Amino acid sequence: MSGWNIIHFDIIDSTNSEAKRRAKEGLRENTLFRADAQTAGRGRFDRRWESPPGAGLWMTQLFQPSGIKAMAAGGAVFLSAVALADALRGMTGADVLIKWPNDLVLNGKKICGMLAECGLKGEMCDWIALGTGLNLTKDALPEELIYASSIEKETGARIDTDELVEKYLAAFDALRQLWETEGLAPIIGRMLPISATVGRDVKVDGTPAKALAIDTDGALICEFPDGVRRVLAGDVSVRGITDYV
Ligand code: ADP
Repeated sequence: MSGWNIIHFDIIDSTNSEAKRRAKEGLRENTLFRADAQTAGRGRFDRRWESPPGAGLWMTQLFQPSGIKAMAAGGAVFLSAVALADALRGMTGADVLIKWPNDLVLNGKKICGMLAECGLKGEMCDWIALGTGLNLTKDALPEELIYASSIEKETGARIDTDELVEKYLAAFDALRQLWETEGLAPIIGRMLPISATVGRDVKVDGTPAKALAIDTDGALICEFPDGVRRVLAGDVSVRGITDYV
């Protein structure tokens, strides 16, 4: 049993919105909100996240991190990315990779997105609502999402979601402990071998660049035609030169 209180909805607007509502009411205990469907799932910049009924794992963790500065709270997406990639690799054997900063990809297609939102107390992070949308079944997503895919579509596997959540939370808790004591560096160290971005030619908001590394703040170090610069998560969209990755 994990140390997370799991609350399950058949249908909800957005698990991140629910977690934020509950945080504003004062909830701080480790709580995981899951829904079979979301009517208003969100990605970054309020973009819509498709969450058809029973087609994926739509969930948000609400927790109070210890000793994490407000500026560093966004690093939480790296924890969920590494933990979920590890859990999926373990259960399916599939070569799940992490597209910086907040997506999981399989065979070059986006199977999962993550979104961290937080509340602040002075300079510190008070709570984090860490949302994850993982596509599981096939044939449920709108066809216009040409870069999207699912675990079943790519591997043929139908996985047990309860088992996945259990494995994910165990991996997440271990990474959280590291994050709270040592910062993001060890998490980035775990991420680099399964990065779909580092070492690749990418486009940063349309400008070609080479992704060289991820620093210990989680920024992507890119070589542009006019020099090397840090690219901050939250600011930009990173794509492959011709494809999604
Ligand atoms: P990105 O990180 O790719 O810039 P977001 O994290 O903000 O984008 O995710 C939102 C975008 O993801 C949407 O604009 C849409 O293109 C795409 N999308 C929406 N729902 C899904 C889904 N279930 N699976 C894969 N991609 C999706």
